[in-house]
Amino acid sequence: MIIFFRRLSLTAKLFLIGLIPIALLLYFSYVIYKEKDQKLAVMHEYVNQVEVSAVLASLNESLGYERMYSFHFLLEKTGFQKMMLQQRIKTDSLIKAVEKRPEVNLKSLRQYTFLTGLDNMRNKIDSIPTLDPNNVIDFYTRCIFRINYTNSWVPPSNIYLTSDYQDIVAQRLLRQMITLIDILRTNIYNALYTKKYMVEILMGSYGSYTFYQSLQKEFKLKASDEPLKAFDSLSKETSFAGMNHYMDTLFAKFHFDSSMSANQWWQLSTNGINAIKDLQRNLWTQVDNRLNEIYSSEKRALSLSLFFLLAAILLVILFISYIIHDIRIQLRELKMAARKISRGEAGITLENFPHGMLGSLAKSILQIEKNNLVLAQAAREIGTGNFQVKVNPRSENDILAMSIKKMKQDLRRFTEQKDKLQKETMDLVTQRDQFFSMTSHELKTPVTTLKAYAQMLLMDGHAVDEQQHKEIFKRMEKQIGKLVLLINDLIDISRLQYDQLVYENVKFKFNQLVAGVISELQISHPNHRIIFQKNVQGEVCGDAGRISQAVANLLNNAIKYSPDSRDIIVRIENTGESIIFSVKDFGYGIRDEEKEKIFERFYRVSNDNMDTYPGLGIGLYISRQIIQKHNGKIWCDSEFGKGSTFYFELPLAASITNQTEG
Ligand code: ADP
Repeated sequence: MIIFFRRLSLTAKLFLIGLIPIALLLYFSYVIYKEKDQKLAVMHEYVNQVEVSAVLASLNESLGYERMYSFHFLLEKTGFQKMMLQQRIKTDSLIKAVEKRPEVNLKSLRQYTFLTGLDNMRNKIDSIPTLDPNNVIDFYTRCIFRINYTNSWVPPSNIYLTSDYQDIVAQRLLRQMITLIDILRTNIYNALYTKKYMVEILMGSYGSYTFYQSLQKEFKLKASDEPLKAFDSLSKETSFAGMNHYMDTLFAKFHFDSSMSANQWWQLSTNGINAIKDLQRNLWTQVDNRLNEIYSSEKRALSLSLFFLLAAILLVILFISYIIHDIRIQLRELKMAARKISRGEAGITLENFPHGMLGSLAKSILQIEKNNLVLAQAAREIGTGNFQVKVNPRSENDILAMSIKKMKQDLRRFTEQKDKLQKETMDLVTQRDQFFSMTSHELKTPVTTLKAYAQMLLMDGHAVDEQQHKEIFKRMEKQIGKLVLLINDLIDISRLQYDQLVYENVKFKFNQLVAGVISELQISHPNHRIIFQKNVQGEVCGDAGRISQAVANLLNNAIKYSPDSRDIIVRIENTGESIIFSVKDFGYGIRDEEKEKIFERFYRVSNDNMDTYPGLGIGLYISRQIIQKHNGKIWCDSEFGKGSTFYFELPLAASITNQTEG
């Protein structure tokens, strides 16, 4: 079930959600309608019954008149025939009206109210002049009684019509009274008129009289204030009071006296019965009007409530449809935005989103786009080489920002490396150019000198004595020596480049080697005084020639770069494990930032004295290579303008042996 619900499309889900209030509304509408309808049905029943009562009362009244006219017709044979015939038509039309009514029990009214015998009775009245008028009275009275019994509907008490209930009951009691009065007055008239069977008639009517009295009592107990008042005032009226009084005395004495003739009685009782009929009719009209009014207002209320319910349902449907439609549009907008982001496009606009889930989703999408734009901008800037741009990942899990940040770091490193390489390449090119120019210069100087000496010998050979010859050859040899050194250096450089330098490995006394180099150099540089200040003994293992070359390089440099000071101090320290050799001069000195670089290949400190101190920038490079090959290290210590001290340290042969042995 849950899976099925999950798989439903959002529209279907929203529709289902929308169905719940609609179903509830429909249910409540049905309940309200049902209740109203029931009320209306009750009302309808009341109105119907009141109508039925009215029709039956009219029928009884008509039958009463017909009885009266038929009775007179039989007694007097003339005078009443026309009225009797007219009354019959009225009675028939009322019977038809009753039979036409929808109530089932009224359709067969004739059969159970003796009315089937009506036509027969009428025929007898018309064709048998000797017919006993009492038979007629008896027949019609039975019919009227029976119909009156049929019309004995007592309205059920119900919550909607409490006030009208009393009036309906009172009105019914009045009608029953009218029927009884009608029967009683006809009987009394009959006795007064015929002067026959007087006691029998009184006996036969006594029951109706007591019934009439009991109805009066019931009326007084059940009727509401208004009809009660009306009845009381009616009881005081002459005709009604007179009629009642006459009947009371008559049935009390059980004897007719001569105080009232038949016609007088008829007149009095007609006025009396009319007065009570008026009261009944008024009450009935009031009740009927009120019921009809309530009925139609209830009907209106039902139609109105039906209309409002339908309108409410329609509104709910419209509202829900609008909400579904609105949510769908917003979801579509979100989908399009998400698709745009997935395609890497920019320019998302998500406006007027509500608070809540959809709103925060829209906010997140906009945030993603904003973030993408910031990152794209940052990436663009990084691409153009601006590494100052800030990339701030929101968390460790922000993969994109973390990657761009990493890319920025890598690119910066690569760019720095590239710049460094470029600079190094440029430096190398410059160094190479300088190297070629210096090399040519360094080669040219001794070669030119040699050429000059050779020319001198060729041209002035005979004029030069042996001593001078010797001097010239000595100088020529010095120049050739320089050339050889230079060429050796160049060969070394090219060998070093391909790591082809070959080293001997012989144990030798280091201080003897240094002393040898000093004595050689001291001869060729008489202007400087090389002071061998500390001469500690110690044996070193390696290539003595190469190490002499390093020592000579450091000493030559000390001499070359301290033209204005005479002393060069050489020291050898023995740490027990290694020899530390140092050459101190009091010359130009070296700036801190150059101290490392001077050991690089072809590097020369550029200054105004470059020409004065020719060189190729390879002496210190070769020296470092040699020392490092002997597991040593070389460095310099200097104070610019005051002089420099160059050191190298080599492991003692003993320590190497110890280490090997160890
Ligand atoms: P070259 O002497 O042929 O230039 P080197 O490799 O021997 O080449 O030296 C490199 C540079 O180091 C020199 O050009 C020089 O500027 C500097 N240098 C070396 N020794 C000294 C020193 N004792 N005093 C001052 N500068 C020195």
